[in-house]
Amino acid sequence: MADLNNMSVEVLTRVGQAKAKALTVVDIRTVLDLLTYYPRRYIDRTNQASICELLDGVEAMVLARVNSVFAKKLRGNRTMVAVGVGDDTGNLKLVFFNQPWRERQLRQGQEVVIFGKLDRYRGQSQMTNPIVDLIGDETGRIVPVYPQSGKAGIQTHEIRRWVDEALRRSQQRGISDPLPRSLCVQNDLLGRHEAIDAIHRPDSMDICYAARNRLVFDELLRLQLKLIMRKRAAEQVAVGICHETKGVLLDRFVQSLGFPLTGAQRRVIDEVADDMARPVPMHRLLQGDVGAGKTVVAVTALLIAVQGGHQGALMAPTEVLANQHFLGVQQLLKGLQVPSAQTLSGEVDLQVALLTNQITAAERVQVQQAIRSGNIHIVIGTHALIQADVEFASLGAVVVDEQHRFGVEQRAALRAKGSSNNVPDVLVMTATPIPRTAAMTVFGDLDISTLDEVPPGRAPIVTRWARTAIEEAGVWEQLRGEVAQGRQAYVVCPIIEESEISNARSVIETYESLRSGQLEGLRVGLLHGRLTSPEKDTMMGLFRSGDLDVLVATTVIEVGVDVPNATMMVIVDADRFGVAQLHQLRGRVGRSDQASVCCMLAADAVGVAADRLRAVVSSTDGFELAEADLELRGEGTILGERQKGSSDLKLASLRRDRDWVIRARHAAVALLDEDPGLVSHQELREEVDLLLMEDDADYLLKN
Ligand code: ADP
Ligand code: MG
Repeated sequence: MADLNNMSVEVLTRVGQAKAKALTVVDIRTVLDLLTYYPRRYIDRTNQASICELLDGVEAMVLARVNSVFAKKLRGNRTMVAVGVGDDTGNLKLVFFNQPWRERQLRQGQEVVIFGKLDRYRGQSQMTNPIVDLIGDETGRIVPVYPQSGKAGIQTHEIRRWVDEALRRSQQRGISDPLPRSLCVQNDLLGRHEAIDAIHRPDSMDICYAARNRLVFDELLRLQLKLIMRKRAAEQVAVGICHETKGVLLDRFVQSLGFPLTGAQRRVIDEVADDMARPVPMHRLLQGDVGAGKTVVAVTALLIAVQGGHQGALMAPTEVLANQHFLGVQQLLKGLQVPSAQTLSGEVDLQVALLTNQITAAERVQVQQAIRSGNIHIVIGTHALIQADVEFASLGAVVVDEQHRFGVEQRAALRAKGSSNNVPDVLVMTATPIPRTAAMTVFGDLDISTLDEVPPGRAPIVTRWARTAIEEAGVWEQLRGEVAQGRQAYVVCPIIEESEISNARSVIETYESLRSGQLEGLRVGLLHGRLTSPEKDTMMGLFRSGDLDVLVATTVIEVGVDVPNATMMVIVDADRFGVAQLHQLRGRVGRSDQASVCCMLAADAVGVAADRLRAVVSSTDGFELAEADLELRGEGTILGERQKGSSDLKLASLRRDRDWVIRARHAAVALLDEDPGLVSHQELREEVDLLLMEDDADYLLKN
């Protein structure tokens, strides 16, 4: 690979300076770039439509021969090129407007593949501005078609010829294969040389798929090797705290809970405790569906640190959430005593403090002082926690809530609040379940714990999609009914841009119209992002204490808000939300043993938006929904729309290649367990460095 990468495409006979320059437009500079410029589709000549089978108005692909080319100037400096093509079954006219170069591109006798829709003009069938790929004098049964670039002026048949030459000239020496033979056998993989050859020049579609699998595996393996090596390197230099994980504080806490832990909570707490007992700093992702009871697990991690004389910190993405966590954790830990050598009784009250940018300067100084002296055991806060002036006496454990709102840097900054030979353990919590394979890729540098069990006794949330005006009226009727029984409700509106206000209901409009309409006479509050923090807190406080019946809000309530008496949620313009977000929102109700309901209003949702709503109606399992979501998002490689030319992840797709992600992960772990520095797999190691851009891994971790 390195050798191929050191060869400019100009070594190929037919690539001159001009073509070499043109190729840089599609990021092809070296022979390796060329060989990893994969076909975007294949034409199977034995499986084509014939001209006589084409139907008016239906897109189709045909293979035909050019019979005639005729260019004509039209009025107003416009041009038209008319091309006659034919196959064994008939003839067809192609018309190109304002593409004068077609006259030069298309020559009599050439074979071309045409994608387009048949239409009628003056009673005659023709295709207007179809996509045309030149086949050239290909003889193979299956012809690869490369992404072409009009800008670069490069045709698919040229690329095919260059690739052909490159492959022919590599034949003798061979393209080496860095994978241990056993891995290939185990995963039923083609050899590297065979795969590269077959993806460009397949004899059958079967071999083509097999070739793709091999190359996808290579891409994913390199990615996993990189992620795991990076994680292990970080572990090596960081010295963590070996926490004592059994102790009186933990026992007291578990006993003080009004409920037994679920099996999943016990399992995950053990995983966390095992990590914390080791000298290597914990770096673990806790994922669990809404309502699975993540807070208890998080608090356990903090208490493990506290009982050994260290401190714990919990960082939340917003002030509303930080406040809420503060209230919740204080409640959970009320009356808990921490063993202490410094008092006569041998105990002190466990101290929990809140640190956000909302508190007064004086309070802040006081809290900071107490954090520095160690008088505060657990701090809960926002980004304010990672500001430079916050110093801990001894930070032992950090919990970061809602992963997707924090970047890697922020996690690192909080970790740096410990001392260099006492790096705190980090637990990252996310309530947005992601499919396992996505987690392995995107959070490849974290260990993963999953709370896959919801505490017993929760009444399931019934979800409905209200499509018609009558159904919507029924929803408001039902809401009034809930309130009449002393319960509360949320009404959620999407955040919309000013420019879009015309076709969506703004939260303020919705609030006004409900208050004087369907919800007249009820106590209705309004919560959105433009309010100041104290205003938000007041509003949340009123709702929490039951002084409001209904809270009309934007997605500020998406995460963490916990008011068990709220049993109904109405989501306005639900088709504007994604699956994960709808599920997340719905999780705000159903937090007690009362039956809860979620109604999604969306009158004109069609297509994928309708599929999303149907998915949310049909399942309350966040993990199942995450898979469905991935399915609905359709095709796409892991790096998505990011410039693909410069990336190593050209073929792999999270949706199509789930199995390969898992296989690559296992293979990477096995290889590195046996040979941490890949010393006896030098070539593989070099490839990881050569092909995987440093920022590919970073990009995945940040997004
Ligand atoms: P999450 O953050 O995972 O959405 P929370 O930690 O907020 O869930 O817990 C949701 C609710 O379930 C809280 O009211 C909590 O007290 C309660 N809870 C947590 N664990 C259990 C359990 N094992 N049994 C019963 N209720 C529990
Ligand atoms: Mg929570």
